[in-house]
Amino acid sequence: MGQSTTDSLLQPDEPPAVEVVNPEGKSAAFLLCDHASNRIPKALGTLGLSDAERADHIAWDPGAANMARRLSRLLDAPLVLSGYSRLVIDCNRPLDSTQLIATVSGGVTVPGNASVSPEDRAVRIDALHRPYHDTIADMLDARRKRPTLLLSIHSFTPELDDGPRPWPIAIAYGDDDRLARLLIPALRADGTVVGDNQPYSVAAWSDYSIPVHGERRGNPHVLVETRQDGIRTPEAAAAWADKLADAYRRIEAEALGLS
Ligand SMILES: [Zn+2]
Repeated sequence: MGQSTTDSLLQPDEPPAVEVVNPEGKSAAFLLCDHASNRIPKALGTLGLSDAERADHIAWDPGAANMARRLSRLLDAPLVLSGYSRLVIDCNRPLDSTQLIATVSGGVTVPGNASVSPEDRAVRIDALHRPYHDTIADMLDARRKRPTLLLSIHSFTPELDDGPRPWPIAIAYGDDDRLARLLIPALRADGTVVGDNQPYSVAAWSDYSIPVHGERRGNPHVLVETRQDGIRTPEAAAAWADKLADAYRRIEAEALGLS
């Protein structure tokens, strides 16, 4: 093996591209957090963005990692988190997506992405996108004989071009709505307003994790989107994780009959 391209992006003292929490978790639930971090590899500086821009939702899903970690503990479920900002490379985009390395995100131009060469693009894929998804694939391969219910944990901004968003939590899916049809009513049982494929849905051209690790493998799945103003603090994120775990537990037995 020659010099790995990974070495040229992440320095030895930087966190790895992927973090695995509770890999031996006994739950059928398997958790992902594609946009867990707003970290940028030192080699890429700030991507030309201000501190505020790098702290904003364009760089990551604020609150999602706290919620996912809590959920992992509550359910005894494995959790895989991406270690770097979606602005470096978006782990939930297919490799041919124009948004894989966004030059503009949420109306903000990303100077560090303005002229990414094919070689630099390959370095980012090899250093960040591929290890994240290879880790997930290896873990799912290893548990092929066990049922897997895939939950991909995201967060969304309270307001975007489409105006204010009334759902504190939302469940998204593509063609396979089996798990969504159970989880949405369970979340709504106490009167909570739950987005049903709003504000986002899942599609193979725009998404990667659910199509690849859920749809292609036949694992029932949902993408969970929690509104960021509801999970700003660890305590608030924990409260939503508790609620989601409770809903999950109520439907798990029925969901296991799906796979
Ligand atoms: Zn996200």
